[in-house]
Amino acid sequence: MTRRRRARERARATMVELEAQKRRRDEVLDRYARKDDDGLVIRCRPTFEERQRYRVDSIPTASGYKVIYDSHDDALAASAELHALGSRPTEPYVCHRSTNRRHLHLRTTHGAKSTVIPRIHERQS
Ligand SMILES: [Zn+2]
Repeated sequence: MTRRRRARERARATMVELEAQKRRRDEVLDRYARKDDDGLVIRCRPTFEERQRYRVDSIPTASGYKVIYDSHDDALAASAELHALGSRPTEPYVCHRSTNRRHLHLRTTHGAKSTVIPRIHERQS
């Protein structure tokens, strides 16, 4: 096997593993997150007021489009399963946008490190 071919096989194996990780995470969200009538996971959206105040594409993803959990138990179960799959430890919190129908999101526990393959642009804080 040539060096180039070995590199290509390694890259393909990494892609396959990344896709498998994503599929396993999607399965967890499928089990615990709020879904619409078509079974698609519902994400939190900026309120009308937020959309007036900021350009929609400038609202950071961290507070913009998080997956919604209806109960603390669902959020905790998802957190545990996602962590078992290599995601950072997370904890549930009640979203400030959930006024009439309470909902929760997961946020990274402070100082936690991921065991998932690191992103290229790891945020420094
Ligand atoms: Zn929310």
